[in-house]
Formats: sequence, structure tokens, C-alpha cells
Amino acid sequence: MEQLNTDILIVGGGVAGLSATTAFAAAGFKTLCVDAVPPIVDQNADGADLRSTAFLLPSVDLLKQSGLWQGLEEYAAPLRIMRILDSGGEDHGIREQANFDARDIDQPAFGYNLPNWLLRREMVDHVNKLTNASLLSPLKVTRITPRSDEVLVNLSDGRLLRTKLVVAADGRNSLIREQLGIDIQSWRYGQKALAFNVECALPHQNISTEIHRSGGPFTLVPLPDLDGKHYSAVVWMETGPNADDLLKMDAAAFNDTLNKRSCGVLGDLKLAGKRLLWPIIAQRAARLNGPRTALLAEAAHVIPPIGAQGLNMSLADLSALVNLTVEARDSGKDFGGTKVLNTYNRTRWPDMAARIKGVDVLNRAAMAKSQNLRDLRRAGLKTLYGIAPLRKAAMKAGLGAK
Ligand SMILES: Cc1cc2nc3c(=O)[nH]c(=O)nc-3n(C[C@H](O)[C@H](O)[C@H](O)COP(=O)(O)OP(=O)(O)OC[C@H]3O[C@@H](n4cnc5c(N)ncnc54)[C@H](O)[C@@H]3O)c2cc1C
Repeated sequence: MEQLNTDILIVGGGVAGLSATTAFAAAGFKTLCVDAVPPIVDQNADGADLRSTAFLLPSVDLLKQSGLWQGLEEYAAPLRIMRILDSGGEDHGIREQANFDARDIDQPAFGYNLPNWLLRREMVDHVNKLTNASLLSPLKVTRITPRSDEVLVNLSDGRLLRTKLVVAADGRNSLIREQLGIDIQSWRYGQKALAFNVECALPHQNISTEIHRSGGPFTLVPLPDLDGKHYSAVVWMETGPNADDLLKMDAAAFNDTLNKRSCGVLGDLKLAGKRLLWPIIAQRAARLNGPRTALLAEAAHVIPPIGAQGLNMSLADLSALVNLTVEARDSGKDFGGTKVLNTYNRTRWPDMAARIKGVDVLNRAAMAKSQNLRDLRRAGLKTLYGIAPLRKAAMKAGLGAK
């Protein structure tokens, strides 16, 4: 049976794994990505990922370095203002409002939003053009055996692969993490998120709007206009049973409920396409490394989709890992060795833990049912917004600055 050799093996070709493949290839490593399922790059195909990702500025910088941004830019909707609204009462009125404007921190935008199915299409296209990277799929990694100077990897077609470093981007139920015996800690919130697109009567003006109300936040994220019509992507977090009901509703009943929940901020909204349901959990791995292995993205951490932190945190991990491996390689050291991987864990784990905690607090505040907690939520938003240095610090922290 044929043997494969590569500098770096990426297990998992989700958005995170494909980002890693292009980033390591751009840094000059021979890189191979293996994914268990073929990438779905058509938005109308069954199983297409209809979520979108808001890439914050540091992530856009990484996509630029990887040579991906040039192909993505034309599809991206800039996010110039992050608007948080607090809604309550039977009339779905807006009780408090805060606009966080990127110009306050001297930036033209906080980031750019792109549909996930399109990201996959562009990323796969890009990988296929590279001479030092490839994607093999459908193909599974069934076992890894780390040794002192390499890792032996068994593939589901019987082939054996040798690599210096395994990057596990194989998702929240990571097989690699399990094989390495790395523990996880998980939290449940009793919530689910409904992800879908809407056609809006009014233009979004590049404002991303998060509306807080018991049950969880409802977020409208700008998408580019198409054929003169206005679109936004929606992530609607609700208690599990309510989210199940929303998924089952016919389009007319759903649009009615949707328009109450959106408080009319973008005029009349109409469902455009399918609705997908995602369970909401938070999860973190006890460490981000094992022998010759780095955990990345949901294999390392899962957080509720608030403040666009999930994949952005993963790309911050990736950026750190690329820098560490390049530095080791360029000084003649072992780029897959313990020193590099321990430093990766030491530098990224505290940031990951802090962001999971921050999003947990925001989510619990957004879910709050009791009047006292809801009053506290409104007061917190008012304080955060009303004090300029605090507001600017929050915006910078959201982007990833320490
Ligand atoms: C509703 C919603 C909205 C979100 N919005 C945002 C946002 O705006 N901004 C943001 O930053 N984040 C956002 N996130 C988070 C973001 O979507 C995730 O962080 C990201 O999609 C996770 O990608 P991943 O590549 O780690 O995992 P996955 O997409 O699960 O990919 C894992 C891949 O590994 C493969 N695999 C598994 N096991 C094996 C194996 N043994 N061998 C080979 N392949 C294997 C699978 O086939 C799969 O393709 C959102 C999340 C949700 C739920």
C-alpha cells in the first residue's frame, strides 16, 4: 500500500481545517488535509452549511496572509456598527440601545461577514491550486501513533501516513483528542440556535444587530445585496423546545413570529431558504496539545454564537501556531516538538478560557428571565456604552486585543 509523507497533517476540512491548510501552506510547509466527508460547496445541496461567519479584523489579516482574502473579498459584507438592543414586554419594545461604531477605534469596520458554504467553495478552490497542499476526501483518520520524531497516521483506506505534526481540526467530538486522552469540560444552556437568511425590506447599512430578550439573543448580520434585494443572516437563540417549535412552523407563521422578534429594525423580514438548528453548548479541552499534536477550533473549544468569537478564536490559535512553527523551522529546530506545542498551549489556553467565560456571562445575561436580572442587563449595557473608555476597551477586546 502507498505511503504518504507530509510536514503537517490537518485532520478535518471544516472552515477551520481548510483555513489551517492554506495558512501552513502559505508559510511554506508541505500540508495535507484529510476530511471524512466531501466538501459541500453548493448552498442548495442537502447538508450545506447555511451559517455565515463574521471574520473580525485579526482573522481577515490571517486570511490575507494565506492568500485567501483576494478570492473572498467580493462576497464579504463589512460590519461597521455592532448594535445591541434590549427588548422586553408583550409589545416587543426596545428598552435600551447601544451602537458600537468601528470608527471610535479608528477602524473602517470590525470585520466582514461571509456565508460558510461559499467559504468552503473558495477555500477548496484555493487549496486545489496550491503545489504544496492538498485535500483528500472522503477519507478518515482512524488512528494516530506519535513517536519521538514523527507521527504514524492510519487512514480509512488502509494507507499509512508519516508527518511531523498533526493539527486536529476534527470538530467538537474530536477522535484525535479522545485518542490522546485529553479531558473536556462541557456546559449546557438548554438552548438551540436557529440559523437562516432573511430578505429585508430595509438595507442593513452594514450594521450588525443583536437583540437581547429572554430565551437568548437574536442576531441579524449583514449579507451583500443580491439582484437589488437586501439580505441578512440570522442566528436566533432560544430555549430548546421553543427553537424546535420555530423549526416546525410553516413559513407564514414563522415570518410572523420572526417579525415580532426582530422589533422591526430592518422593516419586514421574509425567510429566504432553509432553517438549520444547532445545539448550544460550551466546551473546552483541558489542554491544547499532546505529543506532536495541536488541537484547533471546535476540537479545542466550543462556545455559543455570540459576538462572533468561535471561529475567530480558532484563527487566533492558528495564527499563534503558524508563527511558532515557522520560528522553530527557521532556526533549525523541531517545529512539531514538545517545546513549540507547550508554548502554543501556554499562550492560547488562558485566552480561550477567558473568552468562554465572557461569552457564558453574556449568554446567561441575555437569557435572563427574572425582572431583576433583566434590569441588571439593561443597566450593564447602558454603563458599558455610556463610558467612552470602557466602550472602546470592550470593542478592542471583542476584536482580540488583550
Ligand atoms: C449558529 C452558529 C453561528 C456561528 N457564527 C459564527 C461567527 O459569526 N463567527 C465565528 O467566529 N464563529 C461562528 N460560529 C462558530 C463556527 O461556526 C465554528 O467555530 C466553526 O464552524 C467550527 O469549525 P470546525 O472546522 O472546528 O468544525 P467542523 O465544521 O465540525 O469540522 C470538522 C471536520 O472534521 C471532519 N472530521 C471529523 N473526524 C474526522 C476524522 N477522523 N478524519 C477526517 N476528518 C474528520 C468532519 O468531517 C468535519 O468536516 C458559529 C457557530 C454556530 C453554531
